Amino acid sequence: GAQRTKNVLILMSDTGGGHRASAEAIRDAFKIEFGDKYRVIVKDVWKEYTGWPLNDMERSYKFMVKHVQLWKVAFHTTSPKWIHSCYLAAIAAYYAKEVEAGLMEYKPEIIISVHPLMQHIPLWVLKWQELQKRVLFVTVITDLNTCHPTWFHPGVNRCYCPSQEVAKRALFDGLDESQVRVFGLPVRPSFARAVLVKDDLRKELEMDQDLRAVLLMGGGEGMGPVKETAKALAESLYDKENKKPIGQMVVICGRNKKLASSLEAIEWNIPVKVRGFETQMEKWMGACDCIITKAGPGTIAESLIRSLPIILNDYIPGQEKGNVPYVVENGAGVFTRSPKETARIVGEWFSTKTDELEQTSNNARKLAQPEAVFDIVKDINELSEQRGPLANVSYTLTSSFASLV
Ligand code: UDP
Repeated sequence: GAQRTKNVLILMSDTGGGHRASAEAIRDAFKIEFGDKYRVIVKDVWKEYTGWPLNDMERSYKFMVKHVQLWKVAFHTTSPKWIHSCYLAAIAAYYAKEVEAGLMEYKPEIIISVHPLMQHIPLWVLKWQELQKRVLFVTVITDLNTCHPTWFHPGVNRCYCPSQEVAKRALFDGLDESQVRVFGLPVRPSFARAVLVKDDLRKELEMDQDLRAVLLMGGGEGMGPVKETAKALAESLYDKENKKPIGQMVVICGRNKKLASSLEAIEWNIPVKVRGFETQMEKWMGACDCIITKAGPGTIAESLIRSLPIILNDYIPGQEKGNVPYVVENGAGVFTRSPKETARIVGEWFSTKTDELEQTSNNARKLAQPEAVFDIVKDINELSEQRGPLANVSYTLTSSFASLV
C-alpha cells in the first residue's frame, strides 16, 4: 500500500551553533536518504528562555514562585535525580508543558533529542501520555568526549555516541549495549558529500590563489581570543625581510558583529577576509589549509572532514573540555591559549614545517566520520521499520498535566 509519511520531532536548543547544526544535519540526511517518507520538524524547546538557566534570574524566580508547587505535586514520585532544586524543578515544569504542546502539535512517531537536558522530561511526558511503547525515542550526543550524565537515560531506544569514549560512559551510566551505537558526530551532508576543489573555491571566494590560508573562528557566536590572534597572525605571516606575506587569513566572526566591525577597521599587511555568519562553512574550510577555533564539537568534526589541522585556542568549561584531548591525542592538532604561540605555529606550518602541517592533516582525515549522520538516520529508519506501521499513534492532552498548568 501507499507509504504514510512519518513525523520526526528533533528537540534542540539554539545555544551556540552546535546543537542546531547537528539537528539540521539529521533533518537533511533524512531528506536525502528517504525523501518524503519522513517529515522532520526541528523544535527549539528553550526558545523563550534565552540564557537559561542563570542569566534571567528575576523572570525565572517569578516563574518558580508561581509554578513550583504544582511541579512538586506532579513530580513527587517520578522526579529524575538531576532535578534537585526547586529552581530547576520550576524550569522543568515550564519545559514539560512546552514538550507536551510540541507533541500535541506535531504528533511525532519518532523523537530525537540532541540536547543533554532533553531526555528525562520528554520521556516522562511520553509515559504520561502512555505512548512510551509506540513512540521511538533516541538521543544523539553532540559532545565528543566528556559529557554530562543527563545525556544518558535508560529509557531510550537508542543512544548514538560520537566516540568510543562517550559510549563507555553511556554503558557505565547504565545503558545496555543494545541501546548504544557509535557512528560519529552528525555533520551536515553538505560537508560529508560535497566534492570541493581548493583552487575553484579560492576563485569563488575571491581569495589569493597561491598563499597558504588559515581560517580563524570561534563557534557560532565568534567567541575566544579571535582579535588578538588575528593581529598576531598578521605579524607571523608577514616576511619583513622580503616585504611580502607568506600566508593569508580568513576570519569568520559568526554572530559577533562587534568583532567583525572592529576587524574590518584594521589595515592588514597580508590578505585578510573578515566575514560574519557564513552559511557555507564547508567552502571556507575547503579553501583553507588549517583552522584556529575554540573546541566546539561541530567545528572540530567539520574540520576533520575537510582534513584541516586544528589549533584549539579555547573551550567552554565542562562540555567542551574533553574535545581538546580528542583532537590533540589523535595528532589532529594542538592546544594553546596564547595568540602569539598560535601565530608562531601557523607561521612555521606555512614556511619551515610544511611536512608537519601535512602529517597533521592526514591524522585529521583519519579521524573524520563524514558518513556518521547517514548511519544514524539509516539506523533510526531500521528501528522504525521493525516496529511496523504505527497507524494510530494518537495524542490527547492528558488531564493530569493540562489541568495543573
Ligand atoms: N557556523 C556557521 N557559520 C558561522 C559560524 C559557525 O555555520 O559563521 C557553524 C559551524 O560550522 C558549526 C557550528 O556553527 O557547525 C558551531 O558549532 P560548535 O559546536 O563548533 O560551537 P558552538 O557555536 O555550538 O559553541
